[in-house]
Amino acid sequence: MDQELKKLISLQHVDNEIQEIVSLSGDLPNRVDKKEAQLNDIKSKLETTNQKIADLEKDSRKISSEIEDSQSKLDKYKDQLFLVKTNKEYDALNSEIDHLKSVLSDSEDLALKMQSDLESEGEIKKVSEVEIEEIATSLETDKKNLDNSLSESKDQLEELNNSREAILKDISNNLLAKYNQLQNTRGAGVAALNGNCCGACYSTLPPQMVIEIQSNEIIHTCPSCSVFLFSEEQNIEE
Ligand SMILES: [Zn+2]
Repeated sequence: MDQELKKLISLQHVDNEIQEIVSLSGDLPNRVDKKEAQLNDIKSKLETTNQKIADLEKDSRKISSEIEDSQSKLDKYKDQLFLVKTNKEYDALNSEIDHLKSVLSDSEDLALKMQSDLESEGEIKKVSEVEIEEIATSLETDKKNLDNSLSESKDQLEELNNSREAILKDISNNLLAKYNQLQNTRGAGVAALNGNCCGACYSTLPPQMVIEIQSNEIIHTCPSCSVFLFSEEQNIEE
């Protein structure tokens, strides 16, 4: 096998591994960011809920004391009914009592509504608190994994880059420049023969070229996409 072709193939293997590591660890920071945003959303939702609960509790205390006042006023008026001397006074007092009763009934309805609002806000609060705990836990796990994966992939990348440097020494600048250009534009500089087609762009190759590529003794590039071609059917360790 042509030794330079063999090096190009090795270089492609190393570059593929580097790409894989980079893209694998690329997803985790994204996930951590997303979860952090999600957590902040729920926390601000919880803050709103807490504010609503505080407001409702305050209003609820106010309405309770209003109900108490109206109730004691009503009791007082009822007592006074026995003391009035004229019909006119009696009617006036009675109409005052009716009015107070209607105010009292409205206040009691309002108090009930507040109580039920308080209960539903309390449920929302509970759900948010559970969600926050769940997300915070899984966020912590993701962060740990991210740290581990970063330090692990850092080691792996260092090793791969060392192999890469060693391989580069045995490839001529001319081929290397071409390989790098292909790697940057197409994501691959070397492709295996696929039947009688280029393994990168699948265009059919001239029969004579296919035979020569199959020998792995001559470096050919694809006439369509320019990648370096080799044959996997030959033992590349030769
Ligand atoms: Zn091609």
